[in-house]
Amino acid sequence: RAKAAGGNRYALSDPEADIRAISRHSLTNSLPTALERGEFFIEYQPLVRLSDGSVHGAEALVRWCHPLRGVLGPDQFIPLAENTGLIVPLGRWVLEQAVRQARTWQLEQRDARPVLINVNLSPAQLHHPGLVTDTLQVLREAELEPTALCLEVTESALIGAEEDLLRPLRQLADLGVAIALDDFGTGYSNLANLRRMPLSTLKLDRSFTRGMQHTPADPVDIKIVEGIVSLAHTLDLDVTVEGVETGMQAEHLRVLGCDTAQGWYYARPGPPEQLHSLSLADAT
Ligand code: C2E
Ligand code: MG
Ligand code: MG
Ligand code: MG
Repeated sequence: RAKAAGGNRYALSDPEADIRAISRHSLTNSLPTALERGEFFIEYQPLVRLSDGSVHGAEALVRWCHPLRGVLGPDQFIPLAENTGLIVPLGRWVLEQAVRQARTWQLEQRDARPVLINVNLSPAQLHHPGLVTDTLQVLREAELEPTALCLEVTESALIGAEEDLLRPLRQLADLGVAIALDDFGTGYSNLANLRRMPLSTLKLDRSFTRGMQHTPADPVDIKIVEGIVSLAHTLDLDVTVEGVETGMQAEHLRVLGCDTAQGWYYARPGPPEQLHSLSLADAT
């Protein structure tokens, strides 16, 4: 009897899983038209220098204003765009918008230090043969110098990366584009491998900053961050920390030698004007 009941249970469908599958299916189907209809938009989140609180740059984070479901975050549709290949045109669109926005910021505040623009690259974009030429074309059209762009690649995308995959990144790096390893510490990258990669920055995942919300900070987290910062600086890499939500965390991370920080403590992702007012505020 128990066996029969068990068998039955497996035969039953899981209605919630069905709903999720239908929802994914319909979102996937509407992705291509969403791009044509201009339903995507970008929010910018500032990156702040821990040494003096000045604005170092901003990360472009894509959102989808879905006509029926409202605003969807990237975690809800980037994986779908990855599966269907739409990530390549979508990623290019994000790059174009972000690079133009960075150029606009430059023109608006001539005297200030240039604001870097960080754009996320997904694994499919890394594999796309047009990556280098597309990126250079977008920069040229916007009249933005390559040194103002930072491409963020996740640790998992580069795991076991073959030379073929690293070559386009190296070409871009040679032209001055900064490459950041995003969500560092969540994957399983071989630390020795870091040397092979054309990186300029490690972006430390938010899981490491959690233990620093209070004083005293978690001693193990302190040791780990200390170790990563020292390794990174030895390899001539900057350290950016994600998910800084309190002044206490910012202070701990500054003392530990992290270079830049990003998080709600400074600003949530928002419209481009937000960054403009922040940098003007620290220029005065
Ligand atoms: P990510 O690149 O690691 O981006 C950081 C994420 O942390 C963002 O989530 C940001 O809103 C969130 N965040 C920032 N500060 C804080 C904080 O203080 N506390 C907490 N709890 N969260 C914070 P978001 O915008 O939902 O983006 C999620 C991921 O989607 C990004 O993670 C990135 O991997 C991906 N993504 C976003 N835009 C793009 C894009 O244009 N292309 C690609 N391929 N991926 C993108
Ligand atoms: Mg990122
Ligand atoms: Mg990240
Ligand atoms: Mg992250």
